[in-house]
Amino acid sequence: MISTRHYGAVDLTEGRDLQKPEILKWLRTEDARELEELWQAADAVRKQSVGDAVHLRGLLEISNHCIRRCGYCGLNAGNRELTRYRMSREEILACVATAVEYGYGTVVMQAGEDYGIATDWLAGIVRQIKQETGLAVTLSMGERPIDDLTVWRQAGADRYLLRFETTSPSLYERVHPADERQRPGRIDLLKILRELGYEIGSGVMIGIPGQSLSSLADDILLFRALDLDMIGVGPFIPHPQTMLGSSNSPVAPDADQVPNTEMMVYKVIALARLVCPQANIPSTTALATINTETGRENGLSRGANVVMPNLTPTKYRALYEIYPGKACINETAVQCRYCLEGRIESIRRRVGHGPGSRAGRVKERIVDGS
Ligand code: SAM
Repeated sequence: MISTRHYGAVDLTEGRDLQKPEILKWLRTEDARELEELWQAADAVRKQSVGDAVHLRGLLEISNHCIRRCGYCGLNAGNRELTRYRMSREEILACVATAVEYGYGTVVMQAGEDYGIATDWLAGIVRQIKQETGLAVTLSMGERPIDDLTVWRQAGADRYLLRFETTSPSLYERVHPADERQRPGRIDLLKILRELGYEIGSGVMIGIPGQSLSSLADDILLFRALDLDMIGVGPFIPHPQTMLGSSNSPVAPDADQVPNTEMMVYKVIALARLVCPQANIPSTTALATINTETGRENGLSRGANVVMPNLTPTKYRALYEIYPGKACINETAVQCRYCLEGRIESIRRRVGHGPGSRAGRVKERIVDGS
């Protein structure tokens, strides 16, 4: 049994019911004792809902080409300083073999929105991984057309990650310019992905200029409304080759601006765990970037249950520069593995085995036959 903790009138271990005023109170508080209560409640809910296993998702950054001009991301098409790469099929499959060898249950293939990644080419790779390994396959390819998402799902892809970045339409428009094609927005795409049978993952950056605490509270409520299977949050880290990271950024901080601090990230991880008890929540590389010493462990102790060891060949790592100073860019795959396993054991948790699907949803899938 988990202990029952109260904040005002709210039972934190019943965080599913948290409403916006309570969420805002948590986002604003700096009281160490109150925050300790939040960390403990998130950790208790994590333990009860998804257990002590920490799932390892092997991350493959398969291309840094991108047609989009997102104001926050170093991969944006306007960044002419970046050397672009796209991994070959052979390189990808070699990394997948490493994932199998290391006992990871999932491979995550992530890229910029790169139409040089042909739909059928990626479908063939997904099909081969599904036929030859027991791995779950997660894709994170941006806002691709529904036909592409359908083909990849039919090829066997299990999960799709697409952060909605912010619930505020005006902020979204400023930082995430639309391109010429008429496509559903990210929130609608997430609903479509779910209908296609994917487990869906989303999240936000914390502290993008113009992000208010009120809109961040709305983001957390949207995690619950979408019933996300995976929730990824991390600090916004300015990149000098971006609109938001340039010295003359046109986007001013909000009067109630969210700081891009470590503490704010922990609060959002903990609140995400309370509103979505069964979700898989990573302790992200961006968090480890702002606290290389204990960021990962703190994330895992405050609600997270996933880490993503990097399998990308070292020669490409530095080129997947979504933000500068990214943690672990010089580590080899094997160093990443042992480092993360050691960190997990140091906080008396254990490495998870198997695909580590979202708790409580797998049966529905099998019954559906999807
Ligand atoms: N192209 C895919 C997409 O847009 O979903 C996947 C790759 S994209 C680089 C993955 C995520 O990186 C984005 O959704 C965003 O939240 C995060 N990101 C981009 N720039 C960032 C920055 N400067 N600081 C922190 N996170 C950033």
